[in-house]
Amino acid sequence: MFLIFGLRTRSERLGVVPGACRVCDHSGGMLLVRETTRFSLFFVPLFRVRTKHALYCTNPLCGARTEIGAGEARRLLAAAPH
Ligand SMILES: [Zn+2]
Repeated sequence: MFLIFGLRTRSERLGVVPGACRVCDHSGGMLLVRETTRFSLFFVPLFRVRTKHALYCTNPLCGARTEIGAGEARRLLAAAPH
């Protein structure tokens, strides 16, 4: 018998938050993404290993990724218009 296990990261779009890109200065908003990495056994996700939040520039020519903390992500999401 052998085990099949691995880490899988899933990206979840939380929404577009106001902000300017540090790379290209694009001010049309940043896409807030939550990246959850789970440990899986036989392709069944078992538990969460880590959660990261990142902002992606919405300028298709740039697409820069900026990692932010969970607190910062919550704050940005709360400030975003729905
Ligand atoms: Zn940019």
